[in-house]
Amino acid sequence: MEYRKLGKSGLKLSALSLGSWLTFGKQIRNPVAERLMAYAYENGVNFFDNAEIYAQGQSEVVMGRILKKMKWDRTSFVVSSKAFFGDHRQGPNQTGLSRKHLVEACHNALNRLQVDYLDLYFCHRPDKETPMEEVVWTMNHLIQQGKILYWGTSEWSAQEIMEAHMVAKEYRLIGPTMEQPQYNMFVRDKMEVEYSQIFRNIGMGTTIWSPLASGVLTDKYLRKNFPKGTRLGMEGLEWLKNLAQLDERLPKVHALNEFAHELGLSLPRLGIAWALKNPNVSTVILGASKLSQLKENMKALADVQLLTPDVMERIEEILDNKPVAPPY
Ligand code: NDP
Repeated sequence: MEYRKLGKSGLKLSALSLGSWLTFGKQIRNPVAERLMAYAYENGVNFFDNAEIYAQGQSEVVMGRILKKMKWDRTSFVVSSKAFFGDHRQGPNQTGLSRKHLVEACHNALNRLQVDYLDLYFCHRPDKETPMEEVVWTMNHLIQQGKILYWGTSEWSAQEIMEAHMVAKEYRLIGPTMEQPQYNMFVRDKMEVEYSQIFRNIGMGTTIWSPLASGVLTDKYLRKNFPKGTRLGMEGLEWLKNLAQLDERLPKVHALNEFAHELGLSLPRLGIAWALKNPNVSTVILGASKLSQLKENMKALADVQLLTPDVMERIEEILDNKPVAPPY
């Protein structure tokens, strides 16, 4: 396993990590979740990602039970939670980034995960109704209380992240260390253009999500019949199927799949290696509904070396979606 620094912080995360969205406490049974975490940890993964909203809190419950059962040295792994969307409770103060919700969501995550502190705590989305001062002060209080170690953002704009840093500077507080954006071959703007200056000037770390675009960057949707039991076929996730733009993306997926085979790789390995190649990625959070997927995807770390400039150029030609920075 390779370990990368989380931006300019001193924390080192495994370049591949494991997330639990839509799987733990929902799509997969608990023994499968346990096998996924055990395999990941035994192969050097040190970061497990979670959030209050995942399976309405159940994902953290499942992960917490596994962490307890495994009895891994607490200093050997990093665990996260995220607040904003709420868990199963959706009252006026049970979502968002108010001091009340950030503190209560942190306490709830600690209880569910059965840990004394969260290594990483994310604001899962920006909250236009809460002043930035309130968010930054609250995160700093939680750090001072030893309940969280690093705080960050998820899907915030560059402007919002910089506002948080300005507030932190004004009051001599700790600003956000990391951001959690979506990043994959189809969604590139934030990581490749929008955050460029923050990477350069602040040294922001990133824990990127949906490296396979929810499974679109595999060969399974290329088959004649829609595969059974997959995320994009799950009842209640029709919105995600629309968001994943499956039909529009399939021609490129087909070409990428052929190219991956030319290289002797599967498409998921190519997709994950491609994300790892970006030096601003601190860790790629993997998702898996089966142990075989995780085993396959973790091979991608060794595949990064195959991504020569010529190979990257071929991928660029197929994708034809390189984000362009504004001229000034
Ligand atoms: P991916 O885009 O990699 O999708 C993972 C899914 O793709 C799997 O559950 C599986 O679904 C399918 N898959 C994975 N590998 C293979 C393979 N080798 N062959 C075939 N199918 C495969 O990642 P996620 O969308 O799960 O995101 C990863 C993590 O990022 C999440 O768990 C979460 O921790 C985090 N996240 C954060 C968000 C945020 O807003 N901050 C939002 C979303 C995720 P199936 O078998 O069901 O088709």
